[in-house]
Amino acid sequence: MSQGSLLEALLAHEGSVEAASTSILEDLLRSPSKKRIKPSVGHQTSLRLFASKTSTEERSVSPKRARPLSKKGTTLHLYDPEDVAENTPCSIIHNFLPPEEANDLLKEMLDESNSFEKVSFKLFDNVVQSPHTSSFYVASEAEINTQKEDYFYNGARISDVRRITPQLLRARPRVQEAVNKEIQNRIKTRYPRGQKLKHQSPNPWSPNCAFVNCYNGPQESAQCVAREFRVRRIIPKDSDNNRLDDMDAQGQISIHLPHNSLLVMHAEMQEQWKHSIAPVQAIDPHPIAGSRRINITYRDYKQNFHPRNTPKCRCGIPAVLRVVQRKTENLGKYFWMCHGGNVPGKEHCSFFHWAEFDDDGNPIWNKT
Ligand SMILES: [Zn+2]
Repeated sequence: MSQGSLLEALLAHEGSVEAASTSILEDLLRSPSKKRIKPSVGHQTSLRLFASKTSTEERSVSPKRARPLSKKGTTLHLYDPEDVAENTPCSIIHNFLPPEEANDLLKEMLDESNSFEKVSFKLFDNVVQSPHTSSFYVASEAEINTQKEDYFYNGARISDVRRITPQLLRARPRVQEAVNKEIQNRIKTRYPRGQKLKHQSPNPWSPNCAFVNCYNGPQESAQCVAREFRVRRIIPKDSDNNRLDDMDAQGQISIHLPHNSLLVMHAEMQEQWKHSIAPVQAIDPHPIAGSRRINITYRDYKQNFHPRNTPKCRCGIPAVLRVVQRKTENLGKYFWMCHGGNVPGKEHCSFFHWAEFDDDGNPIWNKT
């Protein structure tokens, strides 16, 4: 396997060599032929026909899921928006923008991506580079300065922050409207009593920046590397390190992301799920993008989470907010921790503090 593929596997498994090699072996065992070419577009199936016996009415009073459909060690591929909503913490909208607008945005971002750079980060004390390139867009010069000076990513300041482009700006109101509609729909149909979750913001989601990633397919081949979005439900461990897998001995779910699709990650995503972007061998290069793939993430940076309102560790940098996912003790509880150790050549300072929030998810942090 190429170094790139190995790194992708490691990233998809949060840097766990054991988990990454198990998954690579499983893949090889499942398809023994040397050239494993999975078509990116499979036949369309809908799970609705046989999978879910829960009525809409039952769902609205109880968020309890139907039996997990994906089995441990396997990947369930989903295409149908209703299947995605039913089985994952996401919504997907296909053919989201008018085709012209989607192509204009793609062309603009392909141009931009010529000057994107790879990100360096630490993996087991080694400094490695991300397999993809990226950049970051905000609305104004003032926001560019805020991002460069106040915010830290992986424990360090970032230098490549750009002014939002015409096509990113053009798509923004459509994204905002669609996401807010999906959030309301999720609350109404899937959360207990049809009410927002505790700690979920009651305010409309309002994107003020966009992260853009560019994935390059192999240059030497006519095939392109498409991406699929994979999610896996967290299976926490008890205090004796046993997995509580009776509730869901579940494999991963792959959501295919064709050109011009909008994926919405809902509030429960952060706490109960992990996600990764996985390469998949595809037959058809895109007519405009060829072997490159552009992914745009619109985000809402909330003032209440500006570093002036959150703790700093002893290294003097804003602490990072994380959630307990591995152990059943304190499962779903958030904490602030030092992020300095992620910077090549730096050690962390062991800062740790349980995070507190009001019911609407605003951090409560007393500076004294
Ligand atoms: Zn620190």
